[in-house]
Amino acid sequence: MTGSAGKLRSFITDIFLPNRCPFCGKFITWDSLICEQCDKTVTKANIEICRRCGKRKCICGNNINYDMAFASFFYNEKPVRSSIYRFKTIGDTNIAEYAAEDIVSFMEKENIPKPDIIIPVPMGRKKRRKRGFNQAELFAGCIGKRLCIPVNKNILYKSDTKDEQHNYGRDIREKRVKGLFMAEEADLSGMTVMICDDVMTTGATINECSRILKDLGAGYVISAVCAVTELE
Ligand SMILES: [Zn+2]
Ligand SMILES: [Zn+2]
Repeated sequence: MTGSAGKLRSFITDIFLPNRCPFCGKFITWDSLICEQCDKTVTKANIEICRRCGKRKCICGNNINYDMAFASFFYNEKPVRSSIYRFKTIGDTNIAEYAAEDIVSFMEKENIPKPDIIIPVPMGRKKRRKRGFNQAELFAGCIGKRLCIPVNKNILYKSDTKDEQHNYGRDIREKRVKGLFMAEEADLSGMTVMICDDVMTTGATINECSRILKDLGAGYVISAVCAVTELE
């Protein structure tokens, strides 16, 4: 939701549910995204990352299957990490709402065409049942409502059988991620698809999902994450 309807909604929400800074939790006015203090200290990633691969230290030399990337913050910064932690564990969407607002205004500023469909990076069924939500889906919803674009969580799915892939480098993760994600039969011919996740680490997950989306016919894939990790 953008424009006056969105503003009115924020204003009304503020009366009942005061707006908080996603990083320090301080109360802020209904029309701000972040408190003044954090605005000065938390780095805005979108102006620093490579628009193609989404990394500050460009990895475009690797096989990148997506065409454009957005990330609002750097995961390595402590306030960002704790904000993502609250998002993942208790579903506190503050950071997701702010990242969605940031990415959408960035896209408008750069005249980037709206995607036709938004697809979240899926979570294994067992894990989703246990957690009760998939944060990538929540983030996709935050962007979808602002762009008025449908979110489809039924095209990609993730196998339950393979274990998680934390703490591996890009090469290992690229191998491990193969076969982890699958797709329902769908025709995305010529579509611009936005793939959403909470955090991009090596980029292997988004890259693999983008490969599958292109196999389904997607013409252009835009990656959008709340935060991106800086790798050594
Ligand atoms: Zn703050
Ligand atoms: Zn790059």
